[in-house]
Amino acid sequence: MPCTVVAKIRLNGIKIFASCLLLLASAPIQAWNGTDHHAMGHIPLEAVAQDWELKTPCPIRPINSLLEKLGQLEPSLGDLWHLSDFIKINPAVAWEQLFPEELGRTSITPLEILQLHSTDPDDGRDQNLLIRDARGNPHFAFADQLWFGSLLGGNSQAFRHLEKPPFSWSNRQATFGFPFRAVGEATSRAEIYYQLARLAFELGEDYWGWRFLAGSFHYLQDLHNPYHSGQITPKLLRKGWKAYWSWGRKGHKELFATFAHIVSNSHRFMETYLEKNPNYAPLKGTDTVDLPSIHELALLSRDSSNKLFPALTEAVGEITDERLEGPHLFNSEREPYDDPMPYVFHGPNFDKAQAIIQGIVQDRFAATGRVLRTEVKLILQDRSIKEDPKLILQTIETLVSLHPAIEP
Ligand SMILES: [Zn+2]
Repeated sequence: MPCTVVAKIRLNGIKIFASCLLLLASAPIQAWNGTDHHAMGHIPLEAVAQDWELKTPCPIRPINSLLEKLGQLEPSLGDLWHLSDFIKINPAVAWEQLFPEELGRTSITPLEILQLHSTDPDDGRDQNLLIRDARGNPHFAFADQLWFGSLLGGNSQAFRHLEKPPFSWSNRQATFGFPFRAVGEATSRAEIYYQLARLAFELGEDYWGWRFLAGSFHYLQDLHNPYHSGQITPKLLRKGWKAYWSWGRKGHKELFATFAHIVSNSHRFMETYLEKNPNYAPLKGTDTVDLPSIHELALLSRDSSNKLFPALTEAVGEITDERLEGPHLFNSEREPYDDPMPYVFHGPNFDKAQAIIQGIVQDRFAATGRVLRTEVKLILQDRSIKEDPKLILQTIETLVSLHPAIEP
């Protein structure tokens, strides 16, 4: 048998396996909801904003102002399509879409930009990234998309907004999943947007510098949700197996699609349940993390959240009734949304599990506050040191190439 045929069969085998495993941890595409992202964009910085000059207005600039300077630096980057292609995002991004709070204004503070635009990466730029074969059929454009399943629509951005660390024996419950290597691009996206911010600042485009930093904020915020830094635990795998035998196979659901359904229900319930009574106080503070780079900051965000994934999913399992393990897919995506309260189960372990969930969420919010303050501190330090913009472009290129596009 020719090698190419063997390779093709192997690839198809992996695809079938992966498409069965798909979405084990995905489903709700937002780590925390939009309100949470906005809150996380400014509450951590309130206490330092004055000292760090985050309340000093900067002029709102059109994207063309940045593109002109980029084009002078690198002629192939002087338009939106090429810039989008350079960082491998969907070119149909409405870059200049403003929030109602910005309309009619000529300037805005960095604090406001970080607050409003930390939802930018949820605008569709990481969605519907596909390639077409000679027959016009769509295929995944990046290797890790395979492990998150969706090719189109909101869930197709999951591979950029989640990241599971590589499997490790010392942390095997939390790092369990498929494949065993690290999966997802959230840490490298946080770094790419940080470097874009540096580049924009270096080119004198402060507004876009803060906009890109808000983008980096988003991925770091996502990574602080344990459901976005883990895939499936052995315990959830067992629940999924039970669900498959009791209703999945009868409803013609694939075994691994049933697993995905179980994890999604837990994830979606947790986020909507927390929305009922959000507590943003732990985001506040002035403390930072003693780390020298965005790379280490992103890995810290991922790994510290991942460690909490088994405890969080277990506690959510304790306070929810068995319907979340049934065939109904909890809807937190489109109206009318499911109300989480009817699914709450007041069993003997309710208080203890509830305390664990609250503790983990508060821990993650406090960590988010520290990490985001640290990121702003790092960019302010970097801004004070002159850097060759071409070198920053090279750094971005290297980061993007860590997850190369699949050749058609
Ligand atoms: Zn996200």
